[in-house]
Amino acid sequence: MPDLFIGGAWTAALDEGTREIRCPADGSPVAVVDEAGGKDTALAIAAARHAFDEGSWPGTPAAERGDLLLRVADLLVRDKALLARAESLDTGKRLVESEYDMDDIANCFRYFGHLAAQVGDRVVDTGNPDAESRVVYEPVGVCALITPWNYPLLQTAWKVAPALAAGNTFVLKPSELTPHSAIHLMRLLSEAGLPAGVANLILGSGPEAGAPLADHPDVDMVSFTGGLQTGRRLMATAAGTVKKVALELGGKNPNIVFADADFETAVDMALTAVFLHSGQVCSAGARLLVEDSLHDRFVDEVVRRARLIRLGGPFDEQAQTGPLISAQHLAKVEAYVAAGLAEGAVLRCGGARPSGDPALADGYFYLPTVLDECGAGMSVVREESFGPVLTVERFTDEDDAVRLANDTIYGLAGAVWTSDQERAQRVVSRLRIGTVWINDYHPYVPQAEWGGFKQSGFGRELGPTGLAEYQEPKHIWRNTSPAPQGWFS
Ligand code: NAD
Repeated sequence: MPDLFIGGAWTAALDEGTREIRCPADGSPVAVVDEAGGKDTALAIAAARHAFDEGSWPGTPAAERGDLLLRVADLLVRDKALLARAESLDTGKRLVESEYDMDDIANCFRYFGHLAAQVGDRVVDTGNPDAESRVVYEPVGVCALITPWNYPLLQTAWKVAPALAAGNTFVLKPSELTPHSAIHLMRLLSEAGLPAGVANLILGSGPEAGAPLADHPDVDMVSFTGGLQTGRRLMATAAGTVKKVALELGGKNPNIVFADADFETAVDMALTAVFLHSGQVCSAGARLLVEDSLHDRFVDEVVRRARLIRLGGPFDEQAQTGPLISAQHLAKVEAYVAAGLAEGAVLRCGGARPSGDPALADGYFYLPTVLDECGAGMSVVREESFGPVLTVERFTDEDDAVRLANDTIYGLAGAVWTSDQERAQRVVSRLRIGTVWINDYHPYVPQAEWGGFKQSGFGRELGPTGLAEYQEPKHIWRNTSPAPQGWFS
């Protein structure tokens, strides 16, 4: 069966292009999927435009749209095992992590399903007895949703669920490396009763299949999650038609540990912060900032435990984390570590591909790596390696910690570890980042906004603002006693 979904029909690419997907854990073939080009993207945009301009979805009562999302949530739960397996084969991620993701994805649909019905008009008090004024929230129109490979269906759900809740139609372009969960989502949306043309799926490379989405005059909004360079390019392209743009880009996230932190928990979570999914997490705590007096003891323990982390494929139940997504990405991570060492960082562990385990020989594995004595000027500290690489910097006091934490072009996430709650609040209020954890790392909930300050992007996903991204407020003024004003008489 073909893999592109356009106007409610499964279709192959016009030029018959295909791509082979292989599992990053061992290189085994997963499937061959259709690979769209620009002409396919144009067809998908036309289908979404038609469904928006002529179809019933934008005018469907919000509560009914919400009910459909709740049905999708139930279908996601029903197909959890199938989806988790597909996602693990595409990404190489441990099956158990994909299963957690599927629960989060169903919760995301459930959250926006309930929220859809709660957003009503806003009556404005004008102080004028002869006027009624209200603001209504309409869908933006045709949305292009472009997503990355690290949390394929999760990042997709954060866009698809609010876009549908608000009454938009869309063209989804997932990462060309991880298409399978998006394909299945289209099936579930249809099964739940979404009208043809509301949801459209294009598979293919960014430059070929994705770029036309930012350029096309019939697309009203681009919501993008991915790397900084791609985001900059998309934003520049979208300017040509003054589209609404939302960007969820990378991070270089500080994990700040004061000497009075709970040692055991802070060490444990410093590992989770950076090595979860082998560091391929936008909010990864890749920059460890440790108070001087704690530095040696803390880093020794982090290194001891990092050496014990077991790598393995998605179905290896002993594995604690998996491979990188591709040979190209592995080479990029290696280059960052090499640059860090050349710039004076001290390698404490890792810094190489694993050797000696035949089960890892054909995958894109890289050992958990700790680089100590790093400085803010190093490229491995400033740029996102997006791999299992922890850089360690020391700080002297609170001001120094805040200065180092904010010394980055990014502003996505980060954490503060201390037993002094007043200090925690002071530091948090000075950090220029979108999500801050106190004595924790990584949790998020669909009810709370997610997004970045600075070059981590703009716009928010999740929470009420995540729905508002996909709405246009329209002010309606009604003169209840029309009469000439005589301004020009
Ligand atoms: P990427 O920028 O290479 O690709 C992201 C998506 O954009 C893919 O679907 C790709 O095909 C598409 N694309 C590439 N070039 C394009 C173009 N010219 N026009 C249109 N589309 C194009 O990013 P990636 O490597 O897939 O993902 C990793 C990045 O995503 C990291 O930087 C990570 O921090 C970021 N990320 C951010 C968040 C967040 O919430 N802020 C979440 C997950 C990932």
